[in-house]
Amino acid sequence: MKITESRMSSLMVSVSGVRGIVGEALIPEVVAKFSAAFGRLTQEGMIVVGLDTRTSNQMFRYAVFSGLLSSGCEVVDVGVCPTPSLQLMVEKLEAGGGIAITGSHNPAEWNALKFIRSDGLFLYPEQGKRLLQIYAKERIPRVKWDEIRQVHHDNLAIENHLNKVLNTVPRRKIKDRRFKVVLDACNGAASLISPQLIRRLGCEAIELNCRPNGIFPHPPEPTPSNLKQLSEVVKSEGADIGFAHDADADRVAVVTEKGEILSEDYSLLLATKFVLSKRKGLVVTNLSTTQALDDIAGEFSSSVQRTKVGDIHVSRQMKEKKAVIGGEGNGGVIIPEVHYARDGIAAIALLLEYLAEANEPISKLAGELPRYYMVKKKLEFTKGDFSLLKVRLKEEFKGEKLDFLDGVKITLKEGWIHIRPSGTEPVIRIITEAKTRKEAENLYQLALGLI
Ligand code: MG
Repeated sequence: MKITESRMSSLMVSVSGVRGIVGEALIPEVVAKFSAAFGRLTQEGMIVVGLDTRTSNQMFRYAVFSGLLSSGCEVVDVGVCPTPSLQLMVEKLEAGGGIAITGSHNPAEWNALKFIRSDGLFLYPEQGKRLLQIYAKERIPRVKWDEIRQVHHDNLAIENHLNKVLNTVPRRKIKDRRFKVVLDACNGAASLISPQLIRRLGCEAIELNCRPNGIFPHPPEPTPSNLKQLSEVVKSEGADIGFAHDADADRVAVVTEKGEILSEDYSLLLATKFVLSKRKGLVVTNLSTTQALDDIAGEFSSSVQRTKVGDIHVSRQMKEKKAVIGGEGNGGVIIPEVHYARDGIAAIALLLEYLAEANEPISKLAGELPRYYMVKKKLEFTKGDFSLLKVRLKEEFKGEKLDFLDGVKITLKEGWIHIRPSGTEPVIRIITEAKTRKEAENLYQLALGLI
């Protein structure tokens, strides 16, 4: 078994959407058929379509329109906007659903479709399954020539999102502090909205990579290795904080005033600490998110519920259980006052509010958080049978805390191990976490020995 950086040419289809490399697996025919299938699923409703900035989107947007029109839908084209802006527009327009054309955090050669329900959340897995069944049919029923509806254009997605977010924070308090904020949008979908948000909160916005042309100056995932330029600019400008989004801006990561690049899970930790300090309540995240979140919740006599990996599981649980905050360790923060979706723009507003109220620099707020070390790797797992592995692990760890909600999570005294088969690739993911790097590595070695 060898460690792999898999770059597959096949189409990756799962209940959460479809993605692939442009021109290889992801071609207009596939996109049009998926869109037609989604049109059938929503039963000829009004569908809102939005996109990030990537250059392949001009090709795919017309394929999406064609597919939707062919199954009798009316289309509202909201153009380039973050995925959370699109999700809010689906709600506002009381549409039957939405399609986001976005490769999200993936490099420029990738693209994908994300399917949105009428309540602005992504398809629940059972609906995703139904969509795949429709897609798998040789012929999807199409409407006749005289039943084809219209494509309308609507350019209010960003303004609607801005207003929604601005109404959830005390603007005055933030304005008084006149923060200097650097924003790296990676020339993606947040290039316009996030600098505007920062300015409307009375702060100075320094735009970095805010040309919405889809030419990514660095890989669009807001992980530490991609934020060096942001760190430099924060330091050279003497800014109070720096933020970076992925290409569709459902995620955000933070750089401190000292130029320290915080790993992307800090966004959720900071947001959670601030929200719980004002209002105790339930926190929801997935099984692979840091234990630091439980420690923070514990400080405020609150608890954390864990879901399967995948943002829809977190959104759904938050909505059903009325959580006060939640999200994922990848920079995805969900703030229920705005909606039950990961929202990098809403997260910026909340974190600026925290900064204004705490009256401490962001480096200090981050430094006070509990810290763990994580090892994340993936292994090729083509012939393996995960259920056999489960049985073995049960034997091996008799008496320890085992959770089989999503793969297996083994919680030990020194930390935890999460082993999970990927839903889209022939790999298994192994994540371990402990108080020290050495212990996390040891747990990883232990996990490897088990497989
Ligand atoms: Mg994203």
